[in-house]
Amino acid sequence: MKIVLFGRDGKVGAVLGPRLAEAGHAVTGVEVGEEPELRGFDAAVDFTTPAAVLGNTRRALGAGIPCVIGTTGLTDDGLAGLDELARERGVPCLVVPNFAIGAVLMMRFAAEAARAMPHAEIVELHHETKLDAPSGTAKATAARMGGNVPIHSVRLPGLVAHQEVILGAPGQTLTIRHDTTSREAFVPGVLLALERLSSLPSGLTVGLDALL
Ligand code: NAP
Repeated sequence: MKIVLFGRDGKVGAVLGPRLAEAGHAVTGVEVGEEPELRGFDAAVDFTTPAAVLGNTRRALGAGIPCVIGTTGLTDDGLAGLDELARERGVPCLVVPNFAIGAVLMMRFAAEAARAMPHAEIVELHHETKLDAPSGTAKATAARMGGNVPIHSVRLPGLVAHQEVILGAPGQTLTIRHDTTSREAFVPGVLLALERLSSLPSGLTVGLDALL
């Protein structure tokens, strides 16, 4: 596929770009201040910032390009606007709070556990340069657990991306933990998203679960 990758030089983009190319995709990387002609691309992938993702995605959707968004921190209004534009243009827009398969499983297990153990809290821990808090994964996990789950955010050097879901009941706790130790963890999920993108309906789809 011909892919435009927004956030080429970022922590994720720098790992992802070469891996997409190795998988046979033709990748055009875009960084801040570059505005290439968005024509002839099969898909746009965005790993930028909460401030940049909306503009990039609106431009890509406006050009009729299906989008895969990894950037977190989009507001509900922002997502609703993307849904409307994607439907109008008849293309899919996939937003995935976490591309790591282990994190997707963690969310599933947490939702299952919350049905039997309703008292729970989430601790999410990320590198100190992460711009949004709470993380997109923590918000998505809380939503799948019924919504009313307190989230604690930790930002420290030395961390990559980690989350614990702690469920408590009299005399016991259950902890479900996922650790991302390298950004390689996100590559298979993005490749899967690109492979399945054309099978998605036009408009917004949230989460990798829809593809598994
Ligand atoms: P990062 O290291 O800050 O990288 C972001 C990159 O985007 C930077 O190189 C930045 O350039 C560039 N950028 C900013 N505005 C841009 C624009 N308008 N057009 C093109 N590029 C632009 O962040 P990261 O750790 O790679 O993470 C990127 C995003 O992905 C974050 O929102 C993070 O939460 C999210 N994320 C999601 C997943 C997932 O599985 N869904 C996994 C990891 C991270 P400058 O540095 O020059 O500003």
